[in-house]
Amino acid sequence: MFAPVYFHRATVPRGMELLDDSIVPEHARDVKAEAREFAHEHIEPNAQKYFQSGEYPEEILAAGQESNLVAQDIPERWGGRGLDLAQLLAMTEEFYRADAGIALTLQLASFGCEITYEHGTDDQCEEYLRPVAEGEQRSGLAVSEPETGSDLSGMQTRAEKDGDEWVIDGEKYWIGNGVEADWITLYARTGDDEENPYGNHSMFIVPTDTDGYEAEHIPEKMAMRASKQAHIEFDDCRIPEENLIGEIGDGFLMLADFFNHGRIAVAGHGLGIAAAAIEETWTFTHDREEFGRTISDFQAVQHGLADMILEFESARALTWRGCQKVANGENAGYWAAMAKTKATEMAVDVSERGMQFHGGRSILDERRIARVYRDARIPVIYEGANEIQRNLIYGQAP
Ligand SMILES: Cc1cc2nc3c(=O)[nH]c(=O)nc-3n(C[C@H](O)[C@H](O)[C@H](O)COP(=O)(O)OP(=O)(O)OC[C@H]3O[C@@H](n4cnc5c(N)ncnc54)[C@H](O)[C@@H]3O)c2cc1C
Repeated sequence: MFAPVYFHRATVPRGMELLDDSIVPEHARDVKAEAREFAHEHIEPNAQKYFQSGEYPEEILAAGQESNLVAQDIPERWGGRGLDLAQLLAMTEEFYRADAGIALTLQLASFGCEITYEHGTDDQCEEYLRPVAEGEQRSGLAVSEPETGSDLSGMQTRAEKDGDEWVIDGEKYWIGNGVEADWITLYARTGDDEENPYGNHSMFIVPTDTDGYEAEHIPEKMAMRASKQAHIEFDDCRIPEENLIGEIGDGFLMLADFFNHGRIAVAGHGLGIAAAAIEETWTFTHDREEFGRTISDFQAVQHGLADMILEFESARALTWRGCQKVANGENAGYWAAMAKTKATEMAVDVSERGMQFHGGRSILDERRIARVYRDARIPVIYEGANEIQRNLIYGQAP
C-alpha cells in the first residue's frame, strides 16, 4: 500500500507560469517571446489606467506598430511579416494575459485585412494593406448591425451598383475602429435570392472619409474599455466599383473562412484572460491569511485552484490542436468553433472562481481580477456567440 503524500506549503510555488511555450510550435516561439516582452513593457503597466479612463491607447498602438507586432499577418510582399496562425495565437495569448482591452485594440488595427490579402487584387493590397502593415493606417471589419448580429445571412446594409460605383445604405453596429479606422472591410447585401441565402452578400473596401459614412462611438462598456467600437451609418455612400473584394455574392463564404482563423485567435483571448485570472488568484491565495494560515492551505481552495488549472490546460490543448487543424484546412469550422467555445467559457469559469477566492477585494475596481472578470464576458459573445459555435460543432461533427 502506498501512503498518500502531502506536500508541505513551502514546496508550493508562489508565482506561476501558465503560458509556457512547450505546446507552441517551435517556429512561433520567437514571436511569442517578442510579444511577452512587449506586453510586459507596454501593456501590463498601463492596463489599469486605460481600463479606468476608457481612452483609446494610441501610444501603445504606436509602440506595437513600431515593434512590428501589429498587423504582421499581412504577407511580406505587402509590407508585413506574413505571420501564420500559430504565430498569431502565440502572440494573442501573451497580449490578452497582459490586458484584453489594449490587446483588442492592437489586434483590431488590422481587422479584416485578411479578407483582402486572401481574395483581393494586387492593386487593392498595395493601396490598402501596405499602409496598415507599415503602421500608417488602421482598418476595421463591419459585419454586425443594430438589428442583426448572429444571423450573418440576414444582414440588411445594402450595396447597389450605379454606373461605375457602388452605393451603400444602411447601418453597422459594434464596429471596432469604426471611428478611428482609415478604411473598413464592409459586408453588405447585394442580392435577395431566398433559395440561396448564402450568396446574397459581398465584401467591399470603404475608406472612412467617403461622403455618406458617419460613425460615432457606442456607449461606454463595462469591459475591454481600452478598445473602441462604433455605430456607423451609410447614407448614399458611394465607392468606386473596383472596391468590391473578390466576386459578387461570395461575402458569406469569405466571412466563414475568415472566422475560422478569427475564432482560433478568440480562443487565444480566452486563454490569455484565464491565465491572468489563475495567476492572480494563485498569488492572492498564497498571500492572504485567515484563521492563522494562508487561504491556500484550505483544501477547498487548493481543489478550486487545481480545477482552474485543469480546465485551463484542457482548453489550451484543444486550442492548439484546433489551431493546427484550421491551419491545415481539416474541418476548420468544427475545430475553430470548439476551441473558441471551450477556451472562452473556461475563461468565464476561472475568473468567476478567482473572484470568489479574492473575497471582498474581488469587487474593488483597482483589482486586476475585477478587470479580468469583466473582460472574460466578451469573447463568449464576439466572433459569433457560443450558441452559434455549438450549432457549428453539432452540424460539422465528423
Ligand atoms: C466588444 C465587441 C466588439 C465587437 N467587434 C465587432 C467588430 O469589429 N465587427 C463586427 O462586425 N461586429 C463586432 N462585434 C459584434 C459581435 O460579433 C456580435 O455582438 C455577436 O455576433 C452577437 O450578435 P448580437 O450582439 O447582435 O447578439 P444577437 O444575435 O442578438 O444574439 C443575442 C443572444 O441570443 C442568443 N442567440 C442568438 N442566435 C441564436 C441561435 N441561432 N441559437 C441559439 N441562441 C441564439 C445568444 O445567447 C446570443 O448571445 C463586437 C461585439 C463586441 C461585444
